[in-house]
Amino acid sequence: MRKPIIVGNWKMNKTIAATKAFVEAVDPEVTDKADWGIATPYLALQTAKAGAKNLIVAAENVHFKDSGAYTGEVSVEMLKEIGVEWVILGHSERRQYFGETDETVNAKMIQVLKNDMTPIVCVGETLEQYEAGTTKDVVKTQVVAAYKDVCPKCAARSVIAYEPVWAIGTGKTATNEIAQDVCGYIRSVVAELYGQEVADQVRIQYGGSVKPEGLKALLEQPDIDGALVGGASLVEDSYKAMIAAL
Ligand code: PEP
Repeated sequence: MRKPIIVGNWKMNKTIAATKAFVEAVDPEVTDKADWGIATPYLALQTAKAGAKNLIVAAENVHFKDSGAYTGEVSVEMLKEIGVEWVILGHSERRQYFGETDETVNAKMIQVLKNDMTPIVCVGETLEQYEAGTTKDVVKTQVVAAYKDVCPKCAARSVIAYEPVWAIGTGKTATNEIAQDVCGYIRSVVAELYGQEVADQVRIQYGGSVKPEGLKALLEQPDIDGALVGGASLVEDSYKAMIAAL
């Protein structure tokens, strides 16, 4: 059985003070039903780590090199020094606005996994690709590229987030049937790459306008093992409602 994992992606939101207050209010008492996490801007990570007893604290990005002349970037070593072991990679906003490519996502996957961190690697099609009926081709290309030269043991402990770009921050969620269909397909792609045993271990999240009231039914889908949540993860009451919903 795969344990559900729900992670909030805060994007460029919340100050250090707001992070401290949120973590104090929301940190779950128990994590027997699911793993819960937040991905915060770099500046707030240390504060989130200091306050979190049970919340996973993730970064929203990391560089693929160990160190060097990469102005504005943050390394795996820097994250690990403050106890951050999780990182979102290849979010569509990074692909769209910051030049992230399948190749850089793959380089980051290797860097993160080699350093015993856990990636949440995002894949998903744009509205245009969805309307053209190429969703599965797009996600397959992204998954195959992300996992190039990643060993089976590393792949097994990674997390994939299927996030249709047209559903992110738009209020339009994919139906549970669409989300299940694509997440099931992603698992079959992982099985093609690594075999069924690895595919059965990989946790696959859905992301795109997830709300507390829809979470339980989403997680009842056989290939959906969690959610990556933007907007609803920023509001204390919504985050608590998600915890209460399971
Ligand atoms: C996201 O940013 O990964 C996301 C899914 O955002 P939202 O829930 O706001 O659509």
